[in-house]
Parts: sequence; structure tokens; C-alpha cells
Amino acid sequence: MSRSSSASPRRVSIFGATGSIGQSTIDLIARDPDAYDVLALTGGQNIDQLAHDAIRLKADVAVTAHESKLPALRDALSGSGVEAAAGTSAIEEAATRPADWVMSAIVGAAGLLPGLRALEARATLALANKESLVTAGPLIMATAHAHHARILPVDSEHSAVFQGLVGEDMEAVERIIITASGGAFRDWPLEKLAGATLAQASAHPNWDMGQRITIDSASMFNKALEVIETKEFFEVEPEKIEVLVHPQSLVHALVGFNDGALMAHLGAPDMRHAIGYALNWPDRRNLPVDRLDLARVATLEFRAPDETRYPALRLAREVMAAGGLTGAIFNAAKEVALDGFIAGQLGFMDMAGIVEDTLTQLDGDVSLTHAAMTLDNVQAADQMGRDSARKLILARQ
Ligand code: NAD
Ligand code: MG
Repeated sequence: MSRSSSASPRRVSIFGATGSIGQSTIDLIARDPDAYDVLALTGGQNIDQLAHDAIRLKADVAVTAHESKLPALRDALSGSGVEAAAGTSAIEEAATRPADWVMSAIVGAAGLLPGLRALEARATLALANKESLVTAGPLIMATAHAHHARILPVDSEHSAVFQGLVGEDMEAVERIIITASGGAFRDWPLEKLAGATLAQASAHPNWDMGQRITIDSASMFNKALEVIETKEFFEVEPEKIEVLVHPQSLVHALVGFNDGALMAHLGAPDMRHAIGYALNWPDRRNLPVDRLDLARVATLEFRAPDETRYPALRLAREVMAAGGLTGAIFNAAKEVALDGFIAGQLGFMDMAGIVEDTLTQLDGDVSLTHAAMTLDNVQAADQMGRDSARKLILARQ
């Protein structure tokens, strides 16, 4: 892992440092502390974790999203020399600090603005926050382009595709296949899904992740977001993107070329693979992840996803076809429906119903499909999506 001792430390910031991806990122950075100069760490409610990591990594600033938590953060950091800050605008400010590399690992559309600010400050953006590409893909890509900043994908499938494309010509790419474990309910009979509980949906068979993405994996909304993420990041036609259910989660993605070759990326289901690749890019360095023993694995299974079981995948296709700000509505409605499921207001299968009804309600609104992709318009569409979805949930009760 050790970088060359002559290189000056890289300035890094981690947004969403207290979450699952944030903690895995810190795990890698903490193994080689002299190689990094940590500027900002941000988190939410977990002040103890945030302060602990900010102190041990000697960060310049620690920011909590919650203003009410500022006194607690100040207390926890007192005497350490680490600055304390709070609130959405403090997170945005932290993203303008001149980092070389920024991890975008806030969950949800809240990750969009810090990601944009980091790109404007010309940082290399390691992008775990798929919601920002779903909500505002063309804006993110144009911002990176305008500021000569690089985005490196951190979602495991997209990191796998990215690696499969090294040295290749996009013209020769026929298809991109991203795999899905099928989540917690892949072997459940369809009739039972409506009664799935929060605890059942929050247990992933293969990956250890934040609760929201774990539930999204069970409903396949995570894969739906990832299909859109693939379109936006690799700038490929939706028809070229396929989803394949692969229960072992060892093949993360495949790239199919025009000569019939299919290049697969395999690795243990450990996000430090993709995070480490983005951290060390364009080099490869030793990573503390399990090595696959394929003789022991013995069998890799694949099957086509069933869209009756997973309406989210069909909705993703409709969103890509509609274009414009529809992605912002889709993601916002999905976030609200997920809140509704977590709060016990909605059943598991009702989430897709709320998202579909929100899209239908706002369908035909030309201001959404034809409006310019500016930050203001994206935020307005996000708000419309949230408001409509909330009303639809209330109407069901
Ligand atoms: P998590 O819930 O474990 O952590 C989320 C982080 O964001 C926490 O630090 C939390 O404090 C912060 N946060 C939450 N709401 C916020 C808000 N409104 N403003 C500011 N900060 C806020 O989530 P995670 O599983 O680490 O996922 C993070 C992102 O990475 C998501 O976009 C997810 O889709 C993506 N991702 C995660 C995994 C994984 O293995 N966990 C894999 C691929 C992609
Ligand atoms: Mg993924």
C-alpha cells in the first residue's frame, strides 16, 4: 500500500465518512497515514465516530450535517486542533477546499451539491453516490469536463466496467452487463414479497452496506439506479445495458465487444476493491481484500431478472427513455418511498407503486423533460418528486 516516500501527501476529503463506504475508505487511508493529508470529513448523527476519525487522521475540519449537533462535535474535538462545523452549507464549503481526491459517499440526492463543488475545485471525484448521476448525470459530467476534473466510479459494478474498458475503444463496445445479487428476497415466492418486513429487507446475503442501499438491493431499486448510472457515466445507449442476476456476487460486471468477447471482472464482495482502485488509480496497489479461490467457489450462476418481481428495472428504462429531469423525480420519489417503508407507512411492494404513480402524475410535464439541466431546475424537480410522492403516500393511508 505504501506510496513512494518522495511524493508529497495527497490532500483528500471524505463526504459521508461515518457511513459504510466512508468507513471502508478510512480503513484504507489509515493504513498509510503519511501518504495522505486529510482536509475534511463529514458525517451525520454519529458524532463520536466522526470526531474519533477526524482526530486520528488529523483532519483540518469535521462537519456534521446537523446544526443541532455542533456543540457535541465541538466538545468531542476540543483541544484536538480539528475545526468543527455543521449544516448543509458547511458541507458545501468543505467541498470547495482544494483537495486532490474526494470521496463522495453521502447517501441520497444530498450528495449532489458537494460532488459538484468538489469538481469545480478540480478534485478527482471518487463517486459512490450514484444518486447524483441519476438525478443530474449530464450536469455532473459537464461540470467535470468544464473544470478538467476526473470522476472515478466507486460502485462495484461501475468500477468493474471502468476496469474492463481500460485501453478499449468505446466504439467496439456492444453491451455492458451489470450483475445483481438479487438481494434479500431473491429466493422468496412472489406472493410473499408484499409482506416482507423492514428487518428482513435490511439483511443482505452478500454485501455489508448502509441500510438504505441494502433495502434498495432487495427491491432492485439499487440496480435500477445503477442502470441509469451506467448510461450517464459511460454515455452509452440504454439498449446496450443489461442486468444479470448472479447470486454469488463475485462477477461484478462484464463488457461485451463487437468481436463477441466478453470481459468479466471478478473479486470478493468487498467495497475496498473499488474504493482502493479509485484511490490508487491509475496504479494498482496491494489491497487488504480476500483473494478468490475459484476452485473452491466451483459454481457461478446467472439468470435473467424477472421484471414482475422487480418493477424498478422497468421504471429505470422508462426514466431513461423520458430523459431530462425525470431521473431527479425518480430518485426523489424512490427516497421518499423508502422513507415510507422504513417508517412502516408502506409495504415492501408499495414502494415501486409510489414511484410509478409519481412518474405518471408528473408525466407529460414538458418543463421536466425539456428544461435545461441546471442545478436550480434539478433541485426544483427533486422537490416536485418528493412532494408528489409524499401526497401519494398520505392518500394511501
Ligand atoms: P450509509 O448510510 O452507511 O452512510 C451514509 C453517509 O452519509 C453517512 O456518513 C451519513 O451521516 C451521511 N449522510 C446521510 N444523509 C446525509 C445528508 N442529508 N447530508 C449529509 N450527509 C448525510 O451509506 P453507504 O452504504 O455508505 O452508501 C453511501 C453511498 O454509496 C450511497 O450513495 C450508496 O448508494 C453508495 N454505495 C454504497 C455501497 C456500499 O457498499 N455501502 C456500494 C455502492 C455504492
Ligand atoms: Mg453497486
